Amino acid sequence: MTLDSPLVSSQFRAMTQAPVTRNQVPQNVVPVQIDRYSEREMLLKFNTGEAFAVPFFEIRFVCPCASCVDENTGKRILKREDVAQDVRPTGVSLVGRYAVQIQWSDLHSTGMYAFDQLWLIAKNTGKALSL
Ligand SMILES: [Zn+2]
Repeated sequence: MTLDSPLVSSQFRAMTQAPVTRNQVPQNVVPVQIDRYSEREMLLKFNTGEAFAVPFFEIRFVCPCASCVDENTGKRILKREDVAQDVRPTGVSLVGRYAVQIQWSDLHSTGMYAFDQLWLIAKNTGKALSL
């Protein structure tokens, strides 16, 4: 097996790009822009100056509400195959000064995404943009 084989490079990526964890979230992170970026991606820009194009699917999949995550165990109930590939937001509203609530095309709307959680999702599943 050569070093540039797809398997090796994907393993290498997995080793070098460990997911960003909750304690790495910048303090007082706030989204300053939430918009459609493409047919499949949301534009999320933060007060840190960072901007990301984040797949709708990934944001929907990590919905933190009680019907998607078991409240006692913290284990995700929702499976990736349960989420429509073409899921998209139909509305986004601010919840106080700490979260956004997203209404989805699959009629799911109970998920409230705290700002720090939104940043984590963007950092881990989005592509960084230079805006
Ligand atoms: Zn949910």
